[in-house]
Amino acid sequence: MSDVNCTHNCNTCGETCGSRQEDQTSFLEPLNPVSTVKKVIGVVSGKGGVGKSLVTTMMAVRMQAKGYKTAILDGDITGPSIPKALGITAAGIGVTPNNLMIPATTATGIEVMSSNLILDHETDPVIWRGPVVAGVVKQFWQEVLWENIDYMFVDMPPGTGDVPLTVFQSLPLDGIIIVTSPQELVSMIVAKAVNMAKKMNIPILGLIENMSYLSCPDCGKKISVFGESRIDQVAQEHGLEVLARIPIDPKIAESVDGGLAEYLESPWLDEAVSAAEKA
Ligand code: ADP
Repeated sequence: MSDVNCTHNCNTCGETCGSRQEDQTSFLEPLNPVSTVKKVIGVVSGKGGVGKSLVTTMMAVRMQAKGYKTAILDGDITGPSIPKALGITAAGIGVTPNNLMIPATTATGIEVMSSNLILDHETDPVIWRGPVVAGVVKQFWQEVLWENIDYMFVDMPPGTGDVPLTVFQSLPLDGIIIVTSPQELVSMIVAKAVNMAKKMNIPILGLIENMSYLSCPDCGKKISVFGESRIDQVAQEHGLEVLARIPIDPKIAESVDGGLAEYLESPWLDEAVSAAEKA
């Protein structure tokens, strides 16, 4: 039952308001008692194929290189690409005596859990319905041994449908990064992601535009392959910052698709790394 003083706005209501507690905390899934994760940052995109996994992977690589104990929860259950980008297999994963999954560890020590690490074959399709997919993400949060993690990056399920919504509600996200590409219907798709985050009271750290431009290998001129970017205008409309513009670069595709993302330099993420540190 509602508190008599309920303002029907959880941002202004007192902590004791019955409705506030019901609305704000009931969907958050607790972490298991032996795990600690200090900051959780979600990486979101309006649709697949824009570079969400690239950003998740490279943010984790950068934070780990800065000395933070970093983890990746691959919430893209039906299109998991993180293990491949980091060159890891199921070999490292296991189960603790109290039945928690032990994540895989990359060469530099990033801890990773992904649906691709628990399938019998890497090429097996994941043909699960939405609630099952969302349930697996929750299990990756609750039933994995996440030991002393400073930063966890969550590769969120793409889009703004039921599955990402459940993940938004279940994980205690400290902030999200929205990844987009110039050829998307940027303003509409970004607006959807922004509105979803605002409804859930999750801070948006900023926008990242991937495949922003191509640098001519001969003269260095920046070519806007997909036409002039509208990212600044979109960011301004929503009062957000543009944290990075990532070029189209065959080196990126080669490193990521060849499992060598940890050895890829990413000067384009400097500002995004600072934003994550301030989250
Ligand atoms: P998403 O997670 O949004 O589905 P990915 O990060 O998996 O997208 O990227 C899709 C594909 O595009 C991958 O093969 C990746 O290597 C490639 N790719 C992404 N960004 C770039 C880029 N800036 N330059 C070159 N290739 C890229």
